[in-house]
Amino acid sequence: MHAYTQKDIRASFVNASLRERNALVVPDLGEVDWQNLDYFGWRDPKQPLAGFIVVPVDDEPVGILLRQAEQRTRTRPQCSWCEDVTLPNDVVLFGAKRAGKAGRNGDTVGTLLCENFECSVNARRPMPPAYLGFDVMAARQRRIEALRAHADGFARDIRDSH
Ligand SMILES: [Zn+2]
Repeated sequence: MHAYTQKDIRASFVNASLRERNALVVPDLGEVDWQNLDYFGWRDPKQPLAGFIVVPVDDEPVGILLRQAEQRTRTRPQCSWCEDVTLPNDVVLFGAKRAGKAGRNGDTVGTLLCENFECSVNARRPMPPAYLGFDVMAARQRRIEALRAHADGFARDIRDSH
């Protein structure tokens, strides 16, 4: 994805109330490796159950406020975006309010995601060849494309549902 400014990000949230928007703390973006990210996400220690992601949809940032389900699942689930079965990080269930009226009426969408939004790193992790002649780079590219498609589909679903 290409780089967005703090201002772009702050203005991009489609499912946050005014109060939530005012509480939004966009992190320092100086060290962000945008070109190796398929979506940008962060957590806020002051709001431990909140999650924040910005997904490029047709190159426009779509910010989505997530809320982590308090209950953890017994067995570690698979992230539904990077679909990695050997993840080095935890995966949690997040819910996102749909934009506009639907969200105000309590309509939410749930998704399992890497706890601190490590999906882009995971999709780019080198993996052992599955068999002789296995094309590792092509497989990596497929995983990146699948991650982008999941993030794009989710962001459109949240944004366009009202
Ligand atoms: Zn993931």
